Amino acid sequence: MVAIILSVGDELVLGQTVDTNSAWLSQQLAAVGCDIAAHATVGDDQRAVEHAIAESAGRCDVLIVSGGLGPTEDDLTRQAIAAVMKVDLILSEEWLATMQGFFDKIGRTMPESNKIQAMIPRGSKMIFNTCGTAAGIEATISGGVSGQRTGAGKSTTPNADHSPLTPGPSAGCVLFAVPGVPKEMKAMFARDVLPHIEKLAGGAAIRSRTLHTFGLGESTVAERLGELMKRGRNPSVGTTVSGGVVSLRVNARFESVERSTRELQNTVDACHAALGDVIYGQDEDTLPSVVGRLLIKKGSSVATAESCTGGLLAKYLTDAAGSSAYFTHGWITYADRAKGQLLGVQNVEQNGAVSAETVRQMSQSAMKESGSTYALAISGIAGPTGATPEKPVGTVYIALAAAEGWQSVEARHFLFPGDREMVRDRSAKMAMTMLRYRLLGTPLPF
Ligand code: ATP
Repeated sequence: MVAIILSVGDELVLGQTVDTNSAWLSQQLAAVGCDIAAHATVGDDQRAVEHAIAESAGRCDVLIVSGGLGPTEDDLTRQAIAAVMKVDLILSEEWLATMQGFFDKIGRTMPESNKIQAMIPRGSKMIFNTCGTAAGIEATISGGVSGQRTGAGKSTTPNADHSPLTPGPSAGCVLFAVPGVPKEMKAMFARDVLPHIEKLAGGAAIRSRTLHTFGLGESTVAERLGELMKRGRNPSVGTTVSGGVVSLRVNARFESVERSTRELQNTVDACHAALGDVIYGQDEDTLPSVVGRLLIKKGSSVATAESCTGGLLAKYLTDAAGSSAYFTHGWITYADRAKGQLLGVQNVEQNGAVSAETVRQMSQSAMKESGSTYALAISGIAGPTGATPEKPVGTVYIALAAAEGWQSVEARHFLFPGDREMVRDRSAKMAMTMLRYRLLGTPLPF
């Protein structure tokens, strides 16, 4: 099933508000197996909204329109839908009474302008809003926008005398108009729209899972997955990247729950076979939560000694609830002097603050001082200043000391791409990844 998401609002077109609704809606629709053909954004202009609806409806089975359902003059989505359907707006007595109830409850008179929110295009259905006064609209867009409008002359649709816009949309596109306010939109979509879309999908059972990887680039992940990522494959495997984490979204869409569940698992197993331990978790798992679980399982603890990451690693490790079970101490030894004073690191100047020897000493001291099973240490050049020809921006050393043997300190050199924020983020994530591999008893593969 093909879906298009249309966002309406001047603030979106002007870049004053980031269109988070479309991103969220895309994820929801993709999760039930929809192919998202496009995101479109138009301002608060009825002609533009009409045009976008008519044009999009000809290209998709489901069109979600967010925004423009408010009570003010610039909220024109309902009028645009009515114009495309060539119908007038009629009063939803049910919604008017509900709105009246809202206002009675807070002891205020309902402004006259709010009444427009109880108007819906003739032939459409009102969708209840549990968090606000903007009810949603469900309508089927069929036929063209040319020709006579039903109810012309007595229509409550402003600008109802428009000339034809575009060739008409194909029959059977179901449009759902939802409020722009993210909280209201999400509640309405989850409760009333998504179940309907799942039904429209023909009763097919969709099962999805997201697998998370860290350490390999997206193209390397794709190469390793090979045929599994082939377009048109069912179950499908697609990748997304965020903060260096490459996630694989696996969707299985078959006629029964049993088959979808089985096929999903087969493809998930195939992804694991292709990528091995590079996959650190699935769905809600995060690197800190996965590392935390492993530490708890082994009855182990960890301390940190950080320079260029300024505490970010400690922050990540303590993001997971219950981290007091395994996180003991964190040192931020930013200045060379601090490395010597707080952790007894020797010869920092001779070895270099950013060197394997310095992080090795930092991790060993942190482990010894804290009495933890493991200690991670990071020192690097996050930039934009501080680089030398030998040590460009992104040069980072990470060490992992383990109590199982004083000789078992592993110090690694990395060169991370990107700006200061990226270098710091990847450093902290790589440190957690080193610890994860150690806990799994597997050598780091990169
Ligand atoms: P409604 O249909 O609920 O009346 P609207 O489009 O009239 O919505 P606005 O008054 O323009 O809503 O915006 C309400 C709030 O919702 C604003 O804070 C706006 O920035 C936010 N908002 C609207 N659309 C989006 C979107 N696509 N993504 C994120 N935020 C949005």
